[in-house]
Formats: sequence, C-alpha cells, structure tokens
Amino acid sequence: MFWMNVDFPEKCCTVHKQYCSFILQNETDKKGIGQNLEDGGWHQFASLSEANEKYEKSYSQLKYKKCKKCF
Ligand SMILES: [Zn+2]
Repeated sequence: MFWMNVDFPEKCCTVHKQYCSFILQNETDKKGIGQNLEDGGWHQFASLSEANEKYEKSYSQLKYKKCKKCF
C-alpha cells in the first residue's frame, strides 16, 4: 500500500510507503483521509502506479514528490 498526501497550501502531492510515520492517522478539520478537505487529504493506493495515475489525472497542477524519509 501507498499513501499520497494531497496538499493544496503546499501545492504538492507526496507519496509515502504504507508505514511511514508521517501518514495522518486521524482526519483534521482541514485535512481528510480518503477525501479532500480545505487543505487536501491523504489517499491510499494499492500500488505506486495507481497513485501516479491518480496524480496525472487529478492533481497534475501540483508538484509531485516522493517522501524522503520512507523512499
Ligand atoms: Zn514517508
């Protein structure tokens, strides 16, 4: 599993591996899990290629990064 952090204020999508400590455990007022709130959200994918496809399709206006900690 992979997670993608869609962050609207940072204009950035960051991909994480499943057990990265940066992954959001609980939704906040502005950041969703499985949905985007005001500041974006965290989305789970079965593979890196699925995450990349979603990025290309929906978020290509944002930057794309891989997490420096877990990759
Ligand atoms: Zn990470």
